[in-house]
Amino acid sequence: MSLENDEIKKLVRKFALKNALDHGKAIEGAVVSRMIFVDPSFKANMKALSEVIREQVDEVNRLDRASLEKEFAQYAGEFKAAEEKKAETSSKHDFSVDGAEKGNFVTRFPPEPGGYMHIGHTKAVFIEDVLRKKYDGKLVLYFDDTNPDNERQEFVDSFHEDLDWLGITFDREYYASDHMQLIYEHAKRAIGLGKAYVCTCRRETIGKNRLEGTACEHKAQSAEKNAELWQMMLDGKLGDNEAILRLNSDIKAVNTTMRDPTLFRIKRAKHYRQQEKYIVWPTYDFSAPIIDSVEGVTDVLRSKEYEMRDELYFAVLDILGLRKPRITSFARLDISNNVTSKRKVRALIAENKIGGWDDPRLVTIRALRRRGITVEAIRELALSTGMGKAESSISIDVLLNMNRRIIDPVAKHLFFVSGPVKVVISDEGERDAKLRLHPVKDIGFRTYETWDEFYISREDADALEVGDTARLKDLMAIKIVSKDEKAVHAKIFQSQEGRIVQWVSGRDYVECTVLVPGTPLDDKENFREDSLKTVDGYAEDYVEKLEEHETVQFERFGYCTLDDKEAMRFVFVSK
Ligand SMILES: [Zn+2]
Repeated sequence: MSLENDEIKKLVRKFALKNALDHGKAIEGAVVSRMIFVDPSFKANMKALSEVIREQVDEVNRLDRASLEKEFAQYAGEFKAAEEKKAETSSKHDFSVDGAEKGNFVTRFPPEPGGYMHIGHTKAVFIEDVLRKKYDGKLVLYFDDTNPDNERQEFVDSFHEDLDWLGITFDREYYASDHMQLIYEHAKRAIGLGKAYVCTCRRETIGKNRLEGTACEHKAQSAEKNAELWQMMLDGKLGDNEAILRLNSDIKAVNTTMRDPTLFRIKRAKHYRQQEKYIVWPTYDFSAPIIDSVEGVTDVLRSKEYEMRDELYFAVLDILGLRKPRITSFARLDISNNVTSKRKVRALIAENKIGGWDDPRLVTIRALRRRGITVEAIRELALSTGMGKAESSISIDVLLNMNRRIIDPVAKHLFFVSGPVKVVISDEGERDAKLRLHPVKDIGFRTYETWDEFYISREDADALEVGDTARLKDLMAIKIVSKDEKAVHAKIFQSQEGRIVQWVSGRDYVECTVLVPGTPLDDKENFREDSLKTVDGYAEDYVEKLEEHETVQFERFGYCTLDDKEAMRFVFVSK
């Protein structure tokens, strides 16, 4: 050991005090990890160190809270400084908006309730949440719901649930469809100013003219004529798709978004919130700038693919003489070989290729949650790429690695054997097993009384030859005597050598299924038919004590989350 004994004792005591204050009780394992972190050379003399730790942990655990706090006071400053430094270095990106002012910052998260929330949405909302705190501002939830075909209350509810689970709170919320009268009034004003016209061209003609930069006859209509046609649209005198209201802009604009874009269309469909109240619906391009402006939004944060539409956003506000929010763009968060498009997910569900929006292969929030991905990992990934504009596609493994670091210190370790093979021991007798639930963290044990029958995995059984020794982990060593179709026969054997094998007792096991999700798409964006596999096996019956959605580590198999306790079905998280 590189430190003198007194110094070691002092260091151990400091960590034990901190641990006791943080968790109500000091734990030897936690102090051991801190000591090794401080100086890895302690590993070479663990026996002596353990004695010091045990002694100090015992003493500290006998102190009451007041004495703990009193003694710890001398170290409080030191720990606070270390934590601040850690927070600083962990956020390697600068989250800021040019020109934003403290106390005068309002931003919004604008989902369309036409599908479930997915990983792509999390980047914007976590950045908005960080900025709200930084600028002492407000974050509002704005449902962009003016497309009656796609939208449903089910999706509104799911956004609420998912955002809640992610720990995002909003200062208030509103719906675009509740602002319809206001949006109509602004449309009427734009028409009066000669800045919008009703076009009754066929859809194909409109597309062709836009491409070629050719104006149609309706662009030259008088404001009076447009007002009259607009009223006919509102009064239901025109059929669906018979007329649209367009911005009277520049049909030859270099930015094709500006070539007289659609502001309203006619759609007779029952809206989940407004029922049959409206048949003329605005596009996002027209409704969003108006609603942002009147709702006091100062800052719009959105991903870069909307950049071409920024000009249109500001043009609408210019025409109407409304206050302009600031727009800041960043690269979107995209997971490679996966699918988030509402249309594509709906198609995969309709074709029975995936089980639903929570299929564990997907990156919807429901799927990630079901799979056992933690909020902390999702947040870390969402913020990991910062506010830069460089596009990149991230592998799901990055998220899985972040998640592993978070669950590893807390997940219970259990045994699961896939494709189980029976092992029969010739020696009679009862052997008790007491197994730690975590190798370092002191979270208790599970115990089994075992007899002469066990199960091990098919993989281990195949690897063991007659004459080999193997160690049934934390129980005993055995020597393989013979193997036949039904079982491996063995006898007890004293040995420190041989393959370490996870096992379940021949009596206290539970049949389990593990769903193993892979990426749903290949590199050519085609669906991978074999992207979800199923592994059957036996787990020790401690799994019956798990809570649904709890993630455990099946040793040497991987992290798995209990998906359905009734069916004893798990979802594989990662290795
Ligand atoms: Zn026209």
